[in-house]
Amino acid sequence: MEHYICRGGCEGVSEKPGTCNAEGCPNYQKPLEKCACEDQKHGDTPKESEEKKE
Ligand SMILES: [Zn+2]
Ligand SMILES: [Zn+2]
Repeated sequence: MEHYICRGGCEGVSEKPGTCNAEGCPNYQKPLEKCACEDQKHGDTPKESEEKKE
């Protein structure tokens, strides 16, 4: 499921597009970055086939 994260260090996560709202964060009021990870680790390059459990 896609989500939007701040990579400024505040670890902010939002379900909707937006901007960082953590005052003091280097990315404060900057656009959140789209992420589609499923493990909440927010990897830079999601790998779909890696570590599949079956
Ligand atoms: Zn932030
Ligand atoms: Zn993520």
